Amino acid sequence: MNNYEEIFRYINEKGIDFKKDEPMRLHTSFKIGGPARLFLNVESKKQLIEILNIINNESINFFIIGNGSNLLVGDKGIDGIIIKLSGEFNDIRLVSEDVIECGAAVPLSRLCMFAAKNHLSGLEFAFGIPGTVGGAVFMNAGAYDGEMKNVVEQVYHVEKDSCSEGMFKRNELYMSYRSSIYQKSNDIITKVVFKLKKDNYECIKGKMDDFLYRRKLKQPLEYPNAGSIFKRPNGNFAAALIDECGLKGKSIGGAKVSEKHSGFIINTGCASCEDVINLINLIKDIVLTKYGVLLEREVRIIGNIN
Ligand SMILES: Cc1cc2nc3c(=O)[nH]c(=O)nc-3n(C[C@H](O)[C@H](O)[C@H](O)COP(=O)(O)OP(=O)(O)OC[C@H]3O[C@@H](n4cnc5c(N)ncnc54)[C@H](O)[C@@H]3O)c2cc1C
Repeated sequence: MNNYEEIFRYINEKGIDFKKDEPMRLHTSFKIGGPARLFLNVESKKQLIEILNIINNESINFFIIGNGSNLLVGDKGIDGIIIKLSGEFNDIRLVSEDVIECGAAVPLSRLCMFAAKNHLSGLEFAFGIPGTVGGAVFMNAGAYDGEMKNVVEQVYHVEKDSCSEGMFKRNELYMSYRSSIYQKSNDIITKVVFKLKKDNYECIKGKMDDFLYRRKLKQPLEYPNAGSIFKRPNGNFAAALIDECGLKGKSIGGAKVSEKHSGFIINTGCASCEDVINLINLIKDIVLTKYGVLLEREVRIIGNIN
C-alpha cells in the first residue's frame, strides 16, 4: 500500500495546488483518461526536489506531464502522482543576442513568438505544435524539416532517483527522430537553452504563419487527437500506408481514423482509451500484413488500461 501521508503533509504545509482523483481527460489533447490519484501543480525547482524526495522515500509512482498532447491515458486512470510544472517553469528570457533560456512548462507557441519578436530564427517549425518545451525536448518534436535537436544547446534537469540537479549539453542529449536521452533516464526537464540565428521579423513570422496555415488545412484540429499516432517508418509515410489499406474513416467505438489525415486518430466524442488501442492494433495488423511494415507508436500510453 502506497503511503501518501507524507506527501499530503508536505503539500498542505507549502500550500501546493493539488487535486485528488483528477480526471486525466481534462489534461490531454485526446480528452481521454481516467482519474489520477493525485495531481500536483509544482511551481519551483525547490518544491520539485522536495516532492521527488518524498515520492522516492515512499515508493510512490509518479509521472510528469507537459500539455498532454502526446499522451493516451488508461480508462482506469493512474494509481500515482501526476506532476505538472507551473510557476517559475513558465519563465522565458533572452540571455544574449541569440540565446533564449526557457522554462520547461512554456508552451512552444509562446516560445516561438518570443523568438520571432527578438528577431531569432530556428523555431518556426514548432509554431502550432501544441506541446510544452519540456515535452518537445523529451520527444525531440519536429515538423517541416525542423526539429528541436537543431536548436537546443543545453537542457537542465532534476534526476529522478537522486533528486540532484544536472545538465546535458547538445551532444549529450542523443536526440534523434522523436527520441532523446530523457526517454531512457526519465529525469525531469526544468529549463532549456536555445541557440538561434538572427533574422528579419517579417521573414520569421511569415514562415510561422505558413506552417500554421498548413496545419489547419491538413490536420483534424476540430476533434480531440494526439497528433500523429505512429512514427514515420523508414522510406515511407504512416498516413499513406493507412490510406492505401482502406482504413481512412475506420472506427472502433468513439475512436476513428481521421478522414482529413489518416495518420491521426480522432476522438469523435466518447472514445475510450481501449477504443483507441484497439484501433491502433487493428491498423498495425493490417499494415503489417499488407505491406510488411511494422508501424511504431509515437503516442505514449500511461496508466491502467484495463
Ligand atoms: C494537433 C497536434 C499536432 C501535433 N503536431 C506535432 C508535430 O508536428 N510534431 C511533433 O513532433 N509532435 C506533434 N504533436 C505531438 C505533441 O504535441 C508533441 O510530442 C509535444 O512535444 C508533446 O509535448 P507535451 O508538453 O504535450 O508533452 P506530453 O504529451 O505532456 O508528454 C509527452 C512525454 O514527454 C514527457 N515530458 C513532458 N514534460 C516533461 C518534462 N518537463 N521533463 C521530462 N519529461 C517530460 C512526458 O512524461 C511524456 O512521456 C502534435 C500533437 C497534436 C495534438
